[in-house]
Amino acid sequence: MAKLVLIVCDALRDDAAAAQMGYLEHLVEQNIASRYTVVAQMPTMSRPNYETIHTGVPSSVHGITSNYEIRPSKMPNLFSLARGQNLTTAASAFYWYSELYNGTVPYDPVMHHEVDDETLNIQHGRFYGVPALHTVQPDVEVFSAGAMLARRFQPDYLLIHPMQADDIGETYGGDSVQYRRTVIAQDAIIANLLSRLQPAGYNVIVTSDHGMSDDPSTHGGSLPEVRHVPLYYIPTSGGGLGNTGQKVSQLQVAPTICNLLNIPIPNTMTAPPLEF
Ligand SMILES: [Zn+2]
Repeated sequence: MAKLVLIVCDALRDDAAAAQMGYLEHLVEQNIASRYTVVAQMPTMSRPNYETIHTGVPSSVHGITSNYEIRPSKMPNLFSLARGQNLTTAASAFYWYSELYNGTVPYDPVMHHEVDDETLNIQHGRFYGVPALHTVQPDVEVFSAGAMLARRFQPDYLLIHPMQADDIGETYGGDSVQYRRTVIAQDAIIANLLSRLQPAGYNVIVTSDHGMSDDPSTHGGSLPEVRHVPLYYIPTSGGGLGNTGQKVSQLQVAPTICNLLNIPIPNTMTAPPLEF
């Protein structure tokens, strides 16, 4: 069965990806990848949309209503569903994912930063950041840890979650040379990673939780810059649809991943999966 890597580039807006991610756009132009514009759920904030991407339901249903709602997920989610099918799970991600899916509240970096535990929803986790100090790890380190997890444990479902675009965007804004350079760098890292992951049988999805306004440190509402994020699907088969031009809901991401991993879609996920 095909394995899947989900890359959530935090705060990657759709227009910046289209303009700056030259390798991913090349794969789209060659019909090797499929491209969509995802309309992110509101509030266009990190923790609510980490949960939306992983549960397929909106904030008012899953209850993670702000970044300050710090508790484990109560919904069927991609990690718990994968474990229910005896699939192997892993993540290289911000520690909020550990709080949501491994239930590590309060998060203790000594205990929870690096975990290999078959009983957890995220069985192999490498988490960065600590409460109160939301320091971001360099993207190349986050991607490297993800690639290491793929090589060492061959997880069926692997999440890689780099945050430098969010950090840089909050400092300089989404219409800044610093933000654009960060997006270009992510594209180059992903290009390098694909050549390692695809021979190992991994299909890859690249998307985001929310975008970034032109102003520094502003996202959360309804502007296109913060709601529109990309979704690239790069199958190992090489048979993509190119740029579909379609606007799809962020609620469709979770059931789409269920289908790709042969996980039965739970009743809670009512949005239709994408058909590739
Ligand atoms: Zn975010």
